Amino acid sequence: MRRQLVAGNWKMNASSEMTGSLLTGVLENLPADRDIAVFPPFPYITQAVAETAGTPVMVGAQNVAAEESGAFTGEVSAAMLADIGCSMALVGHSERRALYGERDYDVLVKVRQLMANGITAVVCVGETIEQRKAVREESVVSEQLSLLIAELSNADWEKIIIAYEPVWAIGTGETATPEQAQAMHAFIRSELKKVSDTVAEKTRILYGGSVKAASAAELFSQPDIDGGLVGGASLDAAEFTAICRA
Ligand code: PEP
Repeated sequence: MRRQLVAGNWKMNASSEMTGSLLTGVLENLPADRDIAVFPPFPYITQAVAETAGTPVMVGAQNVAAEESGAFTGEVSAAMLADIGCSMALVGHSERRALYGERDYDVLVKVRQLMANGITAVVCVGETIEQRKAVREESVVSEQLSLLIAELSNADWEKIIIAYEPVWAIGTGETATPEQAQAMHAFIRSELKKVSDTVAEKTRILYGGSVKAASAAELFSQPDIDGGLVGGASLDAAEFTAICRA
């Protein structure tokens, strides 16, 4: 049985005060039957780790360097993330793919860095609206997963979560219908069978893209949807809490 996870991606939004008040709100209303994670910007990770210490809330990073260490100005390594208490990191978010040129190979290399440091990778995949209109959504997502499927072992997959985030639904207010999301999640699960039936059965697949409290319950009740990756709505403690409990 897969345990559901609701994760909040704060993107480049935070301050010390906001980190404190958001986490206070989340901690006051934690659901018992679900995992909860937050992904603050780098400067607020240490604060978030301290404020969630002794609670079930996990803290993750929004990105990680592809390299181990050295002359890579501005980069943050997986070892550093582990050192400050991060247990998860996003990889291949569509904003990183579109704005910073992150490719599937970079995603694989970053996943390997995270694994070497015991950090769970939340790998984001998803098609653009043009690709969906051309009925290419499955082939696009299949391609985004293919290197991971080819290169990673069964044991590696214990440290991977997939987030299906259709690009056309991210930050747009337009959510995939539960049927559209379920169909893609079932497809992703069938792709994971190429690794093994166990990996297909055990890997958590989150949905992301304009999830709100009003849409969360129906999305999360689909058989292959194991929770959500929430952007904008995770910046409002009451809304995020309602999603966490949906
Ligand atoms: C995201 O950035 O991962 C995301 C899903 O954003 P939003 O919920 O704002 O669409």
